[in-house]
Amino acid sequence: MLIAHLPAGYIVSVLTYPMTARLQVECKTYLRCGMLGAVAPDFDMIYFYLVDGGMHPHHSYFSHFPLTWLLLVAAAAVYYRRSADRRLPMLALVFAGNGFLHMLLDYVASNIYWLAPFVLQPFSLTIVERVYQPWWLNFLFHRAFALEIAIVATALLIRQRRCALLKK
Ligand SMILES: [Zn+2]
Repeated sequence: MLIAHLPAGYIVSVLTYPMTARLQVECKTYLRCGMLGAVAPDFDMIYFYLVDGGMHPHHSYFSHFPLTWLLLVAAAAVYYRRSADRRLPMLALVFAGNGFLHMLLDYVASNIYWLAPFVLQPFSLTIVERVYQPWWLNFLFHRAFALEIAIVATALLIRQRRCALLKK
């Protein structure tokens, strides 16, 4: 996925924020944590370019293993259950939840190692053929990009409506 991780994280964070009403979590902080989690798995690109030298696909790193994010969600949930002040655990939950969402969105048009680290077999909902250079043009011209546009459009619509509501 090229451009929709951040807006997808925004959508999920806005839609789940009302669930935090009793906790008095600041809205901006909650949205920032959610959006950071939505893009956090791709921080492994730094390792990919600076250390690995592009030798292995970055989706084969533990940072792109769904189990990593499920464990983080579980840890955040346990932290939430055991804390008297649930504001920080709630932020951890939205961060990790959106990290897992990143796995689902990457799976649409990229390889995700769903069974890793036990089985290193990549799975992808659709295959993006390598026809164009640079590589990202292949994703841009693939039908899966329509989903990305829909996510971005939805995020913009929600943002516009939220701004309109705040002005009233
Ligand atoms: Zn990714």
